[in-house]
Amino acid sequence: MKNVPTPEIWFITGSQHLYGEAALKQVAANSSKIVEALNASGRLPLKLVFKPVLTRPEEIRALCLEANGAANCAGLAIWCHTFSPSKMWINGLIQLRKPVLHFATQYNRDLPWSEIDMDFMNLNQAAHGDREHGFIHTRLRLPRKVVVGHWSDEAVQDRVAAWMRVTRAWSDWQGGKIVRFGDNMRYVAVTEGDKVAAEAKFGFSVNTHGVGDLVAALGEVRDAEVTALCSEYEELYHVAPVLCKGGDRHDVLRYNARQELGLRAFLEAGNFIGFSDTFEDLHGLTQLPGLAVQRLMADGYGFAGEGDWKTAAIVRAMKVMSADLPGGTSFMEDYTYELNPAGQLVLGSHMLEVCPSIAAGKPAIEVHPLGIGGKDDPARFVFDAHPGAAINVAMMDLGNRFRLLVNEVDVIAPSQPLPKLPVARAVWKCRPDLKTAVAAWIYAGGTHHTGFSYAVTTEYIEDLAEIAGVEVAVIDAETRLREFKQQLRNDEIYYHLAPGLGRL
Ligand code: MN
Repeated sequence: MKNVPTPEIWFITGSQHLYGEAALKQVAANSSKIVEALNASGRLPLKLVFKPVLTRPEEIRALCLEANGAANCAGLAIWCHTFSPSKMWINGLIQLRKPVLHFATQYNRDLPWSEIDMDFMNLNQAAHGDREHGFIHTRLRLPRKVVVGHWSDEAVQDRVAAWMRVTRAWSDWQGGKIVRFGDNMRYVAVTEGDKVAAEAKFGFSVNTHGVGDLVAALGEVRDAEVTALCSEYEELYHVAPVLCKGGDRHDVLRYNARQELGLRAFLEAGNFIGFSDTFEDLHGLTQLPGLAVQRLMADGYGFAGEGDWKTAAIVRAMKVMSADLPGGTSFMEDYTYELNPAGQLVLGSHMLEVCPSIAAGKPAIEVHPLGIGGKDDPARFVFDAHPGAAINVAMMDLGNRFRLLVNEVDVIAPSQPLPKLPVARAVWKCRPDLKTAVAAWIYAGGTHHTGFSYAVTTEYIEDLAEIAGVEVAVIDAETRLREFKQQLRNDEIYYHLAPGLGRL
């Protein structure tokens, strides 16, 4: 994947001067050792940076302001080795604009039962230091992720690692640019939304270019580059003979290569992190970009079709979250059902634009008619998504707020070949079952477009929602429809009142 930011996380330790200088030196030494060990663990995707122990309100405020201005700081992991009276933190925390992980850990794992004395108790009192610290976040209505357990515990490290990946995506969204070629598909409701509210809430901006700007970029591409990229396709994929050099329709492959090179140049020149297009606005293009979009998604760009900038942003965030993980992430669309009581399934796909990072094997490149749009036949990857647990994630604008929606699914291999469906395809079972999951999705107003990933889990989307301060509704193995509907009603009230609850 290209264009993945590598920010750092600051490791912050709270204490106070009550215990004397020797104790503070020990606190600093212990914290520093924890940071070294965590960085050496190989389980954390971002570097932890040790910061001096904080003991005074002025220091805390200064550090929070410094973090706000540090472009490379994606978040703060905070713990209290000793007690750190939290009124000292108010002025800093209310200024802080970076994600927070409250790491409720302890330097020692085991209690030294036969030797423990009050000096040990005073030095290692995170058990109540972290409760005092938690209170002030709760009192100020501040978002954070709380992770509890010893820092050497791999399960604990994995919770921290997940949050780090989410901060990487959050940091990428801040100031991130998404370009739309053309507007939303005509009359479609769910792909609409308030781009001003989205930028204020999530940090990314969405702006439109006429497709003519893209056509001009295609015109700048040199024939030699097109030839070289076509050779690359033939090396990397199973390219249909008719599309290969010397084949009757090699011109189609060349045009797709030109689209990829032109799009890539446009995205790089504008420093964009994601994009969208629409088959209803292709003036000057002979076909909808298919293969080009699929290759760019595989390189990490966010994408969604039909002007769906919200899903493009979600796909980009999920790409950045999972950049160091196996499994694959793509734009996806629930297309059609298998409603046989013996095994109810969803067949997901899109006309052209599913990312080959989720492919079960080496993808084929084929050319076929599109069926809508009235343009030339586009080339596209054809493959099946590999089996495994995955999630679908949607983002909707409900008028007064954004809602994130997750459904946990299990991808299976298609039971039969699909010879007349030459697109990228994914077949999955919904958790808890198709009827419950689809009803819950429909009650939640979930879009037909999603970000789909084997690597990103529900935990990541919950962390993202916490950082952004938006609603997240989860459909998983435990979902019961009656409770889910009630949760949506409760959220309707909570998110209506929540803006007034800040900093009471
Ligand atoms: Mn679509």
